Amino acid sequence: MRLTSCLLVGALCTVPIGVFAAAASPGPEAAPAGAEGLHLNWLDRNVNPTRDFFEFANGTWQKDNPIPPSYSRWGTFGILSKQNQEFIHQMLEEAAKSTQAQPGSDGQKIGDFYFSGMDEDAVNKAGIAPLQSEFKRIDDIESLKQLQTEIAHLQMIGVNALFGFGQMQDFKDSSRVIGAAFQGGLGLPDRDYYLKKDAKFVKVRAEYVQHIARMFELLGDSKDNAGWKAQKVMDIEMKLAKASMSNVEQRNPHAIYHVMTLVQLDKATPNFSWRDYFAAVGHPEITSINLAMPRFFRTMGMDLRGIPLSNWKTYLRWQLVDAFAPYLSQPFVDENFRMTTVLTGAKELLPRWQRVVGAEDNALGFAVGKMYVEKKFPPSSKAQVLDILHGIRAALKDDLETIPWMSPKTRAAAIKKLDLMQERIGYPDKWRDYSKLDIDRGPYVLNVMRANVFENDRELNKIGKPVDKNEWGMTPQTVNAYYDPSMNNINFPAGILQPPFFDPNAPAAVNYGAIGFVMGHEMTHGFDDQGSQFDSYGNLKNWWTKSDHRHFAKNVKCIAEQFSRYTVDGDLHVQGKLVTGEAIADLGGLKLAWIAFHASPAYKDAGTIDGFTPDQQFFLGAAHVWAMNIRPEESRRLITIDPHPPGIYRVNGTVANLPQFQQAFDVPKNSPMVNKHRCVIW
Ligand SMILES: [Zn+2]
Repeated sequence: MRLTSCLLVGALCTVPIGVFAAAASPGPEAAPAGAEGLHLNWLDRNVNPTRDFFEFANGTWQKDNPIPPSYSRWGTFGILSKQNQEFIHQMLEEAAKSTQAQPGSDGQKIGDFYFSGMDEDAVNKAGIAPLQSEFKRIDDIESLKQLQTEIAHLQMIGVNALFGFGQMQDFKDSSRVIGAAFQGGLGLPDRDYYLKKDAKFVKVRAEYVQHIARMFELLGDSKDNAGWKAQKVMDIEMKLAKASMSNVEQRNPHAIYHVMTLVQLDKATPNFSWRDYFAAVGHPEITSINLAMPRFFRTMGMDLRGIPLSNWKTYLRWQLVDAFAPYLSQPFVDENFRMTTVLTGAKELLPRWQRVVGAEDNALGFAVGKMYVEKKFPPSSKAQVLDILHGIRAALKDDLETIPWMSPKTRAAAIKKLDLMQERIGYPDKWRDYSKLDIDRGPYVLNVMRANVFENDRELNKIGKPVDKNEWGMTPQTVNAYYDPSMNNINFPAGILQPPFFDPNAPAAVNYGAIGFVMGHEMTHGFDDQGSQFDSYGNLKNWWTKSDHRHFAKNVKCIAEQFSRYTVDGDLHVQGKLVTGEAIADLGGLKLAWIAFHASPAYKDAGTIDGFTPDQQFFLGAAHVWAMNIRPEESRRLITIDPHPPGIYRVNGTVANLPQFQQAFDVPKNSPMVNKHRCVIW
């Protein structure tokens, strides 16, 4: 588990890295990416930029780019991801056809995985058969002890059974890798989906119970039985949800850090033997872990005895089919998608090839990534983006050196933290070794399962060993970026270093506004409400004087209050406290990129384009990063679970705090694009 802060929500950003490295949701989809450079055809010139800058910058783009039926949102990130998927698609097609690959090589695995996924006839013919032995294991449970062993087994094959177990860098000693157990076991996206009382959430819950029942029917239960069992599953998940911590609570690293010995663990988790559990996941040597959410584990332990064994078996059957339904025959795929529609509003299933590319990205992501960068990421790209990155680093250093309210002690610590912040561009120096993973031409679902086991083993094998500093938390083809507070590093995968984020042919103003903004964002994460609690070496250790921290906390509160005022889907407020870190990173990032642009040699040569000054081009480039259309269901889902503000407020909420923007567009003081109580962080 990690507190990785990334640019946009994605599998690695919302789900702690651990045994639930669950199947990636299929990536976003098609539409024209627009021309190079400044996208003047995205603008809606009927909108006044000083009234709604997001609409002005992206309004025509929004009209021209309706959400494709198979997507829940559609924007700059998604379009680029789709292009990457198309490129990877071609690579995988070729690999699947090739007869040259050595058995056991990455090439063989990449080709065979793809072949097994595309072999629709075989998948449909097999139905549920490949999972029969797994269902039998659950049927055979007769005791609490067996139940516990089965929970461990299911987690290892990739099933979200009750809780998660993985590894993390010890918050308080970042040189150590320790085990960590955290809350889990829910089929809906978050506890709020179980607990919120408003009508839309109540409806989702009703749909969810029906969905579980239909899955049981597909597994062979009668309609009556299936309905009864679905309710039992919901009862269990409701109990787990009530015991779970909220997303906002989890933002406090101290609240999710409770390293305990075996004796303490057993005491904290009634009716559960951690010694047996560690043996069952293949690590009997473990003697202490971080029990991240003690309240959850206390309740879970009591429920293990309080709830009849037969109901637990029903729950595990459900979690098993839920985990693998996307890789089974059509009726399971369709039923699974029916629930996706309820949760995200997507209207159509993605084409098969795209779902398989998504699954393969999850299973063999770095093997695919190695092929991807060989073809897609020339060394020259690296040099150019480093130039921009170093300009932004200099801007942040200058800011830390001159910010008026910081005492010399805090200032020195902050500068040291920035100096030691490592930057990584493109892809890892050392590639992941997949030699222990067996992939063949089918059944598809078993390839997925073996990949889950491989990944979970790989993660758990890190416990007790030195930190692998080469490892990346995102594959090279990912269109995203992240800051890792335990590593104190910033990471920009090759996937995001392309137009429209970075374009060697675009005006410098646009590159600084887009990729510069992204870089400044990640760097600022080291100094947001969460990152600022970790020191230069990635340890959770206070480096602030009391009065400096009080000053900082007041500024942070300003951001939380500002964003709490914004709403989506009519009535749903942004959770200011959930998005604080990301909103701080946006504000710091955009400001730093602006300063770096002004300090760059390119600024002197920058000229007006179609009447837009270089500063105006800079802010348009930034707004275009967040061009997006989104369905109301997806809006609600993201506002519940996503620590990032909605795209429109990432633009309007950020520029409203920047006098540089107000100057660039001559914004009057009483405009909605001016935050009356301007927030200043960095
Ligand atoms: Zn971020």
